[in-house]
Amino acid sequence: MAGPRVVVITGGGSGIGRACASAFAEQGDSVAIIGRDEAKLRAAAASIGQDVAVFPADVSQRAQVETAVAAIVEHLGHVSVLVNAAGYIVGVSPTTPLEEAERNFDETIGVNLKGALLMALAVTPHLDRPGGRIINISSIAAYTGGSGGGAIDYAAAKAGVIGLTHGLARGLSKEGITVNAIAPGFIAETGFTGDWSDERVRQIVAQTPVGRGGQANDIAAAALYLASPEASFVTGQSLGVNGGWIFGM
Ligand code: NAD
Repeated sequence: MAGPRVVVITGGGSGIGRACASAFAEQGDSVAIIGRDEAKLRAAAASIGQDVAVFPADVSQRAQVETAVAAIVEHLGHVSVLVNAAGYIVGVSPTTPLEEAERNFDETIGVNLKGALLMALAVTPHLDRPGGRIINISSIAAYTGGSGGGAIDYAAAKAGVIGLTHGLARGLSKEGITVNAIAPGFIAETGFTGDWSDERVRQIVAQTPVGRGGQANDIAAAALYLASPEASFVTGQSLGVNGGWIFGM
């Protein structure tokens, strides 16, 4: 496909998504960021200061996803890379009352898992063939069940993202599109972890062999690799980027 690559990133207004947007823009790609809050997206795009376009949408809502992807294709023509980074936890523990558990579970699955599916299927007809890439941000919580307790919904959603990655890879790899997941460990200074206590962070770092918390740039670097032509033989994988917090995922 001639011209710059087009990289679509959900959750691009902050944290890992914003770091990915900055890293791809830095290497000359055209970047489109998707999120619910247009003002936040615009502030992120302005602070990156490169070729970053803004498309507001809630990824858990099919109609909004369809509208945003149609607008991206109209403006940018095609999609080379999709990074599904939008996500958050609502919270379910073994003692959460059933009605509340159902509500929280549906919301967490909606943004993390259904949102990734909707984005992947909406973008797939427009992905470069060969060379297209889908990169889903899962979590170490898919393997550990979550570090703080009360993350049943989130662990299930992020484990679902791994299965989603396998299914998409099975279907799309033969068309020259790779599909992989990144499972971050603790990443500091994100909307996700910003309110975690110093004690909780200290305990995580104490269990992390490299002896530090992760940075959003650590995840962006993994995304750049999976998106590169050199990674064309890597598909259906989940790459742990966690400082060694757990091995052998
Ligand atoms: P973050 O809160 O800074 O970023 C998430 C972004 O997603 C936010 O900008 C938010 O506005 C956006 N978003 C949320 N719901 C959305 C929706 N329905 N539609 C569109 N956009 C939506 O936190 P982050 O850590 O950068 O999170 C990025 C991804 O990384 C998430 O999927 C998160 O679960 C995952 N993750 C984070 C960590 C960590 O330690 N920070 C670890 C493992 C996985």
